[in-house]
Amino acid sequence: MIRPTPAIEAIPQTTPFIGPEQLMRETHQLELVRLGANESAFGPSPKAVAAMTQELPRLSWYGDPESLDLRDALAEKHGCKPSQIVVGSGIDDIMGLAVRAFVAPGGVALATTGTYPTFAYHVAGYGARLLEVPYCPDGTPDCDALLDVARNAMPSIVYLANPDNPSGRFISRREIESFYEALPRDTLLLLDEAYADFVDEGELLPASFEDRLIRLRTFSKAYGMAGARIGYALSTQRNVSTFQKIRLHYGINRNAQVGALASLRDAEFRAYVVAETARAREAYYELATELGRPYIESQTNFVCIGMETADRAARVMNELLRRGVWIRKPGAPPLDSYVRVSAGTPDMREAFARALRAVLAEVAV
Ligand SMILES: *Cc1c(COP(=O)(O)O)cnc(C)c1O
Repeated sequence: MIRPTPAIEAIPQTTPFIGPEQLMRETHQLELVRLGANESAFGPSPKAVAAMTQELPRLSWYGDPESLDLRDALAEKHGCKPSQIVVGSGIDDIMGLAVRAFVAPGGVALATTGTYPTFAYHVAGYGARLLEVPYCPDGTPDCDALLDVARNAMPSIVYLANPDNPSGRFISRREIESFYEALPRDTLLLLDEAYADFVDEGELLPASFEDRLIRLRTFSKAYGMAGARIGYALSTQRNVSTFQKIRLHYGINRNAQVGALASLRDAEFRAYVVAETARAREAYYELATELGRPYIESQTNFVCIGMETADRAARVMNELLRRGVWIRKPGAPPLDSYVRVSAGTPDMREAFARALRAVLAEVAV
């Protein structure tokens, strides 16, 4: 009898992400207002599109397995050496490499209950054990509690998303610094900075390259290239050499490398996206206030709006979907009574606002 390994067999048949395409099939809709996955509503940089279009005829060639042009440009941006950067097909890919490289099967990792799910997914997939700590009541990852557990359990990796998804909360540079310093010396901090581009540079952890720290960045959010699947990690040359042993050297789309490089050079477009995203957040805060709903101030491209109970939040999400508006909701307390809506263009925001007003008038929430 053919069986997967015991670790894989023990994993329940759940999918961390149900995509809008599947939801469209299930609800027989040809179109959805896509506000569920924190994709950029403002698209990729036109310069990235132009560069990728021009490159397309060379699709028969593999990309540079070292992504060196891109790493050179990234090294300049981050004030480090290209040898301190590894490129992958998105943060999700690199997170898997980090777990595989640093958490032994049967080993222990630590994260916040209900935070971005891919880390937990990889920990299960590589046969390790995940310890979890709940969010603070206001939806901020609880650094003190993470620290307590880390000191007792000595996990190989602590995962922290900052800004966090799904809360949108941002932990200050000073707090992150002291959290990092207080962690056991043998624990690696996997700092997921998918939304760092929406935060002022000065508020982020300064360039810091130590074996105990891996920072993850992506072109999926502010750069609007989620479908191209490209991201990177900043760490030490030693950790990058470790990744080099196990990463898929031809795993990064050639076209994505070209697009990422072009969009990195388009600072004007990035500034436009960051400004539009801030506008969208403000619009959602106003909408929540108009509807008498609490919201969480966010440093990302999404906002959580409170619906009082998890059941009501789920009903609102489902009713919105019936009306052609796709959003998501956090799965674990204390955030499970919220719905999470991504920053949209003014038209998308209007469609969301209209549908939400109608749903709240109908559903007893
Ligand atoms: C969107 C997101 C990711 C995924 O990034 P990719 O580069 O598209 O794989 C990772 N972490 C967080 C916190 C995210 O919100």
